[in-house]
Amino acid sequence: MPSLRHLSVVLAVALCAPLSAHAIEFSAEELARAKALQQRLVTLDSHLDTPANFGRTGFDIEQRHDRNALSQVDYPRMVEGALDGGFWAIYTDQGDRSAAAHLAERDHGLQRLLEIREMLAANPARFALASYLLELLGRLAPEGGAPVDLKRLFEFALAALRAVDAATPDAKLRAFLELRALHALGLCPELARCVRCGRALAGEGRVGFHVGEGGPLCAACGAGVEGVLPIHLGTLRSLERGLRLDLDRLGRLALGPATLSEARELLARFQRFHLGLELRSQRFLDGILSGATPPAA
Ligand SMILES: [Zn+2]
Repeated sequence: MPSLRHLSVVLAVALCAPLSAHAIEFSAEELARAKALQQRLVTLDSHLDTPANFGRTGFDIEQRHDRNALSQVDYPRMVEGALDGGFWAIYTDQGDRSAAAHLAERDHGLQRLLEIREMLAANPARFALASYLLELLGRLAPEGGAPVDLKRLFEFALAALRAVDAATPDAKLRAFLELRALHALGLCPELARCVRCGRALAGEGRVGFHVGEGGPLCAACGAGVEGVLPIHLGTLRSLERGLRLDLDRLGRLALGPATLSEARELLARFQRFHLGLELRSQRFLDGILSGATPPAA
């Protein structure tokens, strides 16, 4: 006669069998279609219990934990599984509802909150660059724009976030992605021609960039014009190359320190002129990417 324990094991196996059989019924083609669809969608997990692991020895959100060792969620597998975002949960067991238990639960919640903050602070560049790009798009995207334009912007935002995933989040990537964001918004500065006479600019020298007119002036048109930003034509050409390249290859474009510094100045002034204010995430990102301690948020 089978024992109760044996019966429950048989029952559990019987209940699981149809599920696992069902799970392997998808063909490779069906799975590929489902995966392609998920890549196009924004996938959010409304309840990530991962913060419970932040305080555990050996857990690092940036490292892959295969076979769910320590956690089901980490950054490499979030990228691989096309999880675009989620909500970190602060889970606290309910105690006996005494005053002492309430205090212990409060402390536990605060501790978890602190661990989430520490996780963000330990990986700031990627999060800061992603936030900055989304804030820029959010501020400059047209209110009530045509659906086709908003869809294009949305697709750009997803592609830009994936580029932040794939490359090292540094000042160079920031400059190229910022330029691409302005381009996606229809606000890209002119980079190749004089904005007054339309002549293509050639050579290696410096020209004046007129922020208000949105581009460079040739020597003839720029003579006597005050308040322009001096910039090397090589810098403008480098930025132009960044406009033509696939977003996921931007990390491979070289940009020397002097060129990067000029590009940064141009984009900062151009963006400030058109935006009319400083983005909330800007100073924080500036600090992170320059290696300085960012101001308290
Ligand atoms: Zn000109």
